[in-house]
Amino acid sequence: MTHQNRPWGYTNVSDGQQPGWELHEDTLAVRAGLARSGFGETGEALYLTSGFTYDNVEQANSAFAEDVDHYLYGRFANPTVSMFENRLAAIEGAQMCVGTGSGMSAMFASIACLVSAGDRVVAAASMFSSCWVVLAEILPKWGVNVEFVTGNDPQVWADALRVETKAVFLETPSNPMLQLVDIRMISDLAHKVGATVIVDNVMASPILQKPLALGADVVMYSATKHIDGQGRVLGGAILGSESYIKEKLNPFVRHTGPSLSPFNAWVLVKSLETMSMRVHRMNESAQAIAEFLESQPHVTSVNYPGLTSHPQHELARKQMAGGGTTLSFEVAGGQDALYAMMNKLRVIDISNNLGDSKSLITHPYSSTHRRLDPETKAAMGITEPLARLSVGLEHAGDLIRDLKEAL
Ligand SMILES: *Cc1c(COP(=O)(O)O)cnc(C)c1O
Repeated sequence: MTHQNRPWGYTNVSDGQQPGWELHEDTLAVRAGLARSGFGETGEALYLTSGFTYDNVEQANSAFAEDVDHYLYGRFANPTVSMFENRLAAIEGAQMCVGTGSGMSAMFASIACLVSAGDRVVAAASMFSSCWVVLAEILPKWGVNVEFVTGNDPQVWADALRVETKAVFLETPSNPMLQLVDIRMISDLAHKVGATVIVDNVMASPILQKPLALGADVVMYSATKHIDGQGRVLGGAILGSESYIKEKLNPFVRHTGPSLSPFNAWVLVKSLETMSMRVHRMNESAQAIAEFLESQPHVTSVNYPGLTSHPQHELARKQMAGGGTTLSFEVAGGQDALYAMMNKLRVIDISNNLGDSKSLITHPYSSTHRRLDPETKAAMGITEPLARLSVGLEHAGDLIRDLKEAL
């Protein structure tokens, strides 16, 4: 399907408007993947259709044989979904992208398409809880051996990556502890034992970290987070090389159906246009808030890669373009004190989403990570007085004031 994944995109009006120089990522975010219909619309078109027609049966035959460029069926591809995929691939610097209905379907498909019973997977233990369920419960049920390692300990990785391994899965920064994994170092180790490195880049966003440029093979997103970033739709994406997408991923997703709805793709392709501005602004505010929290007597710890007190601050400076939009912190006085503080907030909402234009605070122990047993939570550092704050687009001064009053 050559309609998909052209780095610049095409228009029916004048194919190939690629200028003679390399465009900045912010320009690609607005222009890449644009597929105008014959009407010359400025806004990206929403092709809300499940199927496609053929001029004659011969054309249908050639389309199925992939001899001609023609959409076949909504589960495989759709022009609006392709616009989103092509635009995100251009921003990420990936050869190809596949959009999915949610971040979890992206995560599951990215790894399930690679593994068979008996295969070995190594994963950084600190991660989003549904990803943990896929790796700790679902894949082992099908005979995949998953080993969890402490993501920020290089020696543990070196020991784990001595034998043949099919895939390495890591989230950096991790949710909600903001621990980092050295993508370059782990990718080098993983490639020596034949593993495909998959990075859950949700927390950093496509703007603040480029795992493929650091040696990773596959990147996955929950588009629900910074990509939409305005609390409207679920979505996901998987990015990687043409060979990974065509030979491994597509044969899996085309038949298991985690397809992205054209409507959600249309919301998301427009969101990509403003993502860089939003993420940079949220990142600046998060840095200011982390510094403020660190100075507060009732705050006992702050986890944020942009702080010099973060144990991996140097790594953050090396592999990220900012500390990110999310931080976590502990308050003195345990869970009761934290609950009292959260209930006093007037601007920041209590919600378990992140990457949103609205600042959102959650108690991971009883919400996002509730399903994990107490030992796993303890090993991940998720304590009762820990709060996770996703910093939005409100003025940083108002957010700091809100936290100050509540503390
Ligand atoms: C939210 C999230 C996911 C899952 O995404 P959904 O769109 O909710 O399915 C996966 N990984 C991380 C790090 C997340 O924050």
